[in-house]
Amino acid sequence: MEVRVNLYTNEDYQKLAELRFNGDVYPGFARVYLIPDELEKLKATGLEYEILVPDLEAHSKMIRETKEQWHWYDDIIALMDSCATTFPDICKKVMFGQSVEGRQLTACVISDNVDIEENEPEIMFDGGIHGDELCCSENTVRMIRHLCVNYGIDQEITELVNTREIWLYPMVNPDGRVHVVRYNANGVDLNRDWGYMWDGWGGSWGAYSQPETKALRQCMYNHQFVVHTTYHAGTEYISCPWSYRPDHCPDYNHIMQLAGVYSSTSGYANLEYGQGCTGMYPINGSSKDTNYGMMGSISWSMEISYDKQPPTSQIYYYWSINIPAMIAMMEYSGYGVEGVVTDAETGDPVQAIVWVNDYFPTYTDKEVGDYHKYVLPGTYTITITANGYESQTVTDIVVPSMGSAVTDFQLQPTAEPTHYGYKFSASQIPDNNYADEGNTPGCLGAPDNINYSIGKNGWCIIDMQYPILDGPYNDFTVFEGDDSPEGFTCYVSQSIDGPFVSVGTGIGTTEFNISVSGLPDAQFIKIYDDGDGSANVADAGFDLDAISAEFIQGPNLVVDNYYIDDSIGGNGDGKLDPGENADLYIVLRNNGTETAENIIADIYTNDQYITINGQLTDFADLEPGQIDSAYVNIFASLLTPAGHQTDFDLDVSCNNGAFSNTFLLSIIIGTPPILVDEHFDTFPPDGWYTEGANNGNNWQSSNSNNAGGVAPEAEFYWSPSTLGQQRLVTN
Ligand SMILES: [Zn+2]
Repeated sequence: MEVRVNLYTNEDYQKLAELRFNGDVYPGFARVYLIPDELEKLKATGLEYEILVPDLEAHSKMIRETKEQWHWYDDIIALMDSCATTFPDICKKVMFGQSVEGRQLTACVISDNVDIEENEPEIMFDGGIHGDELCCSENTVRMIRHLCVNYGIDQEITELVNTREIWLYPMVNPDGRVHVVRYNANGVDLNRDWGYMWDGWGGSWGAYSQPETKALRQCMYNHQFVVHTTYHAGTEYISCPWSYRPDHCPDYNHIMQLAGVYSSTSGYANLEYGQGCTGMYPINGSSKDTNYGMMGSISWSMEISYDKQPPTSQIYYYWSINIPAMIAMMEYSGYGVEGVVTDAETGDPVQAIVWVNDYFPTYTDKEVGDYHKYVLPGTYTITITANGYESQTVTDIVVPSMGSAVTDFQLQPTAEPTHYGYKFSASQIPDNNYADEGNTPGCLGAPDNINYSIGKNGWCIIDMQYPILDGPYNDFTVFEGDDSPEGFTCYVSQSIDGPFVSVGTGIGTTEFNISVSGLPDAQFIKIYDDGDGSANVADAGFDLDAISAEFIQGPNLVVDNYYIDDSIGGNGDGKLDPGENADLYIVLRNNGTETAENIIADIYTNDQYITINGQLTDFADLEPGQIDSAYVNIFASLLTPAGHQTDFDLDVSCNNGAFSNTFLLSIIIGTPPILVDEHFDTFPPDGWYTEGANNGNNWQSSNSNNAGGVAPEAEFYWSPSTLGQQRLVTN
């Protein structure tokens, strides 16, 4: 059911916050979505409430069946397709992927030369992250049509389409839209699923856990939006970063000023604006905090109507009062500072971090090298840092009123290669730590004793921009920037979404070797605090200053992959079985800076069950980044126990001994037998215990055959429902 809760005092807000209900908190009231058990909890607080919609399912059905004048999923897709087909020079439909239920995650980009990435500010409007807030998709899809049909007719629109790259993404959550529900098809509130200061709200499984979140995140990653507006409904308010903490973000002044521009150019009588955390209420895992915290974009939630589904007679009204403000944002996205960053020797664009004053940094476009950031008229200092280049600073940049200051940079390559943290991709500080300033950009770039303190039991993920390659020695160093060394575990992955594999623990500044993980390289590094010390103090947790890759000069061979091929002379199941002959394939990659020539590789084992027949075939010479495979025939004795692990030593050398290394390879023979067969006759079973986080331990058991077997069998459930974590753990 949907329930309105009236909030008069800070105590009221606090009482409600402790319940961690799903929903939104606005100035003076909240709108929450409850199951019957939760209504009982709400009653117990004594807060004043009113049930707005007793049966949400019936309500959604009614909306779906009666309000034909809304654009529905099929209408919106059809309108986007038709604009892209009718106006191919300025409108392109871009597919990000599929929703949980297989619907299109798709946006339109509108610009002249729409197929070419140009030196233009980019701006995003998205809608429908909450599927039941219907006006939001209307605003965005109608703007696609509005820009297309007025291009070449309306001078202002023509000018904007020619000089901006305008993104419109009408349905971030198409499944929610179709079912007229807030959540995606996995029941997750997508505006709590974002990775920057994620904290498990709204049923989120983890940072960026849902396909809808990943899709928009990748778009943000590849396109630095100057302004990113996310439309919502439920009140009328512009909610700006931060939403996760009460103090002002470093970009507060120009964000507030631009929110004022949206408000005053719109047709609302008085569209209020302010910081999400204090103007509405603290939430973790919002898209606005992530796009601001990770990319330095001006990013906000635009709450455009008190009704989530206003009468259809008002659709046009809400759209029309937002048009002038949307046009103003397109215009203003070209104000502030801008320029192009290139390599001084080649003229190629450089992927760089752009630091304007002490604001959160933004990024250059990787194809063109251009950057754009909205700031107020005034005098600014810009520093550009980039992996492989000397930093450059320009001072006294004067930004005019209603215009931009253009400053181009030509960066000199460094004498020795450099490779530091590039982007702050995700983080969690359990229950937040407002006592620390949360300076996440502090851990990017070279070591400088400016830190981000990751919080007690906190973690963060750093994107290194491109992979750190595994070499024969330690591959990267994690720097702690203060005098009191603290403990942490370090994980690596090739993808932002993992899986992350541990490469060990450290105390203070520590070096790590990627080969411990079994991966040939790693682009994403996750630092996890060891939980020592206090939570709510400044500098809580490990103080991450920088991550720096080490470089191997010369050739550097690593094992990229190895596998069994038993398709010839074996049973073809991809495994070596007892009594079977198969080929063991080994793939080598050159992770070094010079060509690997005359590669010599030998493989040995002292395993009594294994016979190696002959020598490995030859590897070709490998230029940096190249791979090649070779194989050797092996035989497993019929007596090999199923599940037996065989270890091989692989000696590799090249360039007449200039490089040599030994790798350990392990394969499993046959299918391992089942080693654990636990019958849960009692609960918890002997040697196990249960535990719960946040809402206490809610495990219960019953002896029945509800699971479909023969009674008695144990059935496990938690009741009442909980947003916390529940675990069944062995001693
Ligand atoms: Zn919303």
